[in-house]
Amino acid sequence: MTRPDPDPLHLLASRPSLRMDVHSGLLFEDVPLQILARDLGTPCWVTGAGTLRRRVRNLRSAFEAAGLDVGFHYAMKANDHLATLSVLRAEGCGADVVSGGELHRALTVGIRPDRIVFSGVGKTDAELKFALVQGVGQINVESAEELVRLSALAGTLGATARVALRVNPDVEAGTHDKISTGRAGDKFGIAWHEAPALYRQASDLPNVIPVGLAVHIGSQILSPAPFRAAYGRVADMVRALRADGLHVDIVDCGGGLGIRYRDELAPPPSALAGAIQETLGDLDVALAIEPGRWIAAPAGVLLASVIDVKKQPDDVPDFIVLDAAMNDLARPALYDSWHGIVPLSPERAQEDLIPQTVVGPVCESSDIMATARPLPPLQRGDVVAILDTGAYGAVMSSTYNARPLAAQAMVEHGQWQTIKARQPIEALWAGETIPEWLDRETA
Ligand SMILES: *Cc1c(COP(=O)(O)O)cnc(C)c1O
Repeated sequence: MTRPDPDPLHLLASRPSLRMDVHSGLLFEDVPLQILARDLGTPCWVTGAGTLRRRVRNLRSAFEAAGLDVGFHYAMKANDHLATLSVLRAEGCGADVVSGGELHRALTVGIRPDRIVFSGVGKTDAELKFALVQGVGQINVESAEELVRLSALAGTLGATARVALRVNPDVEAGTHDKISTGRAGDKFGIAWHEAPALYRQASDLPNVIPVGLAVHIGSQILSPAPFRAAYGRVADMVRALRADGLHVDIVDCGGGLGIRYRDELAPPPSALAGAIQETLGDLDVALAIEPGRWIAAPAGVLLASVIDVKKQPDDVPDFIVLDAAMNDLARPALYDSWHGIVPLSPERAQEDLIPQTVVGPVCESSDIMATARPLPPLQRGDVVAILDTGAYGAVMSSTYNARPLAAQAMVEHGQWQTIKARQPIEALWAGETIPEWLDRETA
């Protein structure tokens, strides 16, 4: 038996940034979302700056309570809006970047290069050079080939690269197949048995300095056990490398801590801190983590309007067609993910719930936000908030079906501001050209 879906009010009870007000409807950090939907239109993403801050502080206090001094490198692929990055920079986060574009963004908001870690399974020469010229603090190398190439590139620039080897500890993260990254067959990281020799090679190569090990085993991990297993293996490798006379100063523990989207028993940050403390706490290494989802996901909602209600026979849930779709929020189509859906209106919150299937208008059968979800009977014109979409939400949007990228706003303490205008429709074909010979044909 599958567990029943939590109802909207139950979802709000465990989300302190959201509150249903009897007059203004759903509030996010004390901003009535109905006002945002009216002024900005839908679909529209809303990011809560206060929620971002609170999450970072919660995470930090968990590590402090465990007696650990841990550097935070926010994994900016989760949500790379400049406003989000500014908030997190102000909260003392560095950045984990996985492309030259992300590096550029991080530098644009003033994140110091020495607080940036460059990860990623395939870095081009141009990206590595850019990182070297900017003086990025740490480059996480993912293969022998990349290590040798980086050494050569650094040589041509007269630079020295501080590198960590991203190792693949071959552990099962117990998460969705498409977000597991630390099993032997995954494309990520250096194979376990090859890592020691490569670390030795790195210490012999010119223009690179091996500073430590990095590991990232997946995302939305819901138990401390895989973390403990991975970090335990890394600790063994640190000891083995040191026994061979090599210097290991840093362990980068990656990201992956899961959150409660539906009714998951997500581990508290103290469980992650405990896993790190137990395994790596006595190694005298500088520790760092790369959280993305845990910080950003609960700090965002996606607002969408009901554009049609498609009635179905009695025993079949009606289709509620939203103006937000898989091109906006890809996660349900990509990972079968579950997101809470809460109507904004205070009246709807009083009504009885009936199962409804919430879909987007894109021409794909996978464009389903929720199946047979208990919701008050939705009508055309109702606006809903799709919860916990602050991570891997707007960053994954596409313009499929010629749908412009949605507007974005930021809220905090009852104030709000547009942080990205809805993409103008003409922008969709700006830069496209029609070959001259086709022009001649139509002339
Ligand atoms: C994606 C990623 C992260 C962040 O993962 P979350 O699950 O969002 O915390 C951290 N490190 C690396 C190398 C990543 O690729």
